[in-house]
Amino acid sequence: MPKQYTVVRRGVPVKSRRKGFYAGSRGDKIFGRLDCPSGLRKLKPENRVFFLTWKDAVESGYRPCKVCHPLPDVDSLFEQKQDLIRKKKKRSRKARRK
Ligand SMILES: [Zn+2]
Repeated sequence: MPKQYTVVRRGVPVKSRRKGFYAGSRGDKIFGRLDCPSGLRKLKPENRVFFLTWKDAVESGYRPCKVCHPLPDVDSLFEQKQDLIRKKKKRSRKARRK
């Protein structure tokens, strides 16, 4: 059985086979990146919710975190990057974006 994650879509928790890319706090309705230092410190597991996309989080009434500034579509960028890494594992790539 594939592992399932609970993510929130338009305020409704749904099952997903993909892990959320953003974590939010049910208490203060703020969401951020999974590696956000502030989120890691403040988020209590019982208050934590996950979102697959930036849009899902915003549509669920959450505000972007001011510490890590989650950006729209970072999730898809991340996936594209993972894809590239898989395809070109031997070539080291430097990010040209600034
Ligand atoms: Zn944050």
